[in-house]
Amino acid sequence: MAMSKSSLAFLVLAFAFFLCFIMSTGSYDYFQFVQQWPPTNCKVRIKQPCSNPRPLQYFTIHGLWPSNYSNPRMPSNCTGSQFEWRKLYPHMRSKLKISWPDVESGNDTKFWEGEWNKHGTCSVEKLNQMQYFERSHAMWRSYNITEILKNASILPSATQTWTYSDIVSPIQKATKRTPLLRCKSLPQPKSQAKSQPKRQARSQLLHEVVLCFDYNALVHIDCNRTAGCWNNVDIKFPP
Ligand code: 5GP
Repeated sequence: MAMSKSSLAFLVLAFAFFLCFIMSTGSYDYFQFVQQWPPTNCKVRIKQPCSNPRPLQYFTIHGLWPSNYSNPRMPSNCTGSQFEWRKLYPHMRSKLKISWPDVESGNDTKFWEGEWNKHGTCSVEKLNQMQYFERSHAMWRSYNITEILKNASILPSATQTWTYSDIVSPIQKATKRTPLLRCKSLPQPKSQAKSQPKRQARSQLLHEVVLCFDYNALVHIDCNRTAGCWNNVDIKFPP
């Protein structure tokens, strides 16, 4: 039986609304818990130096990101309620100042607000604002990357370099799950960049260690390897 034009239009419209709803509430598959190495943040900020000239020498939280396997940068900026300062109790704020500081401009609250609005809003059905920050802090306490690397004699150095697997292996051994590393490349003077083949022209700095968690942010799982550092280029872990 032929469908009338108006019923077809209705179906198309309903499907479009459904798609918009899914995208704005943010369906996701798993969480990426991202810790960053502050000296690297500051080394790559050439135009706008970090507000603290002596970056912290321990891994701090960048964020807890609900993510899709098909596109780990999504979802983002969902429609859940925006960041509210009063919903972060004072005892939690003082803990986050240690585990989740703004290592670039020193405005911790603004950093938390940006992370909640961009990422936390997409998993609000699982973790409300307080739970989102509490869970992130608990993960940071449970997985001390600085200590794990130190125990494997991987210490910040201006000169020493490591392979991807040198750094991943001790974390994998300590946590029983595969993490993901993310690197940043150091901008090179133009003269040097021209005279060297592209691969060697840059060195890469360890920037972030990602641990992956299931949909409920409770079970630690393996991360899928995605391009986070260049293959076959040694990695620096700068002080
Ligand atoms: P995302 O927005 O996806 O969570 O992360 C990317 C952004 O976070 C980048 O713009 C990066 O500069 C910013 N970012 C990472 N660490 C910090 C930090 O410690 N402070 C601030 N203000 N921004 C940061």
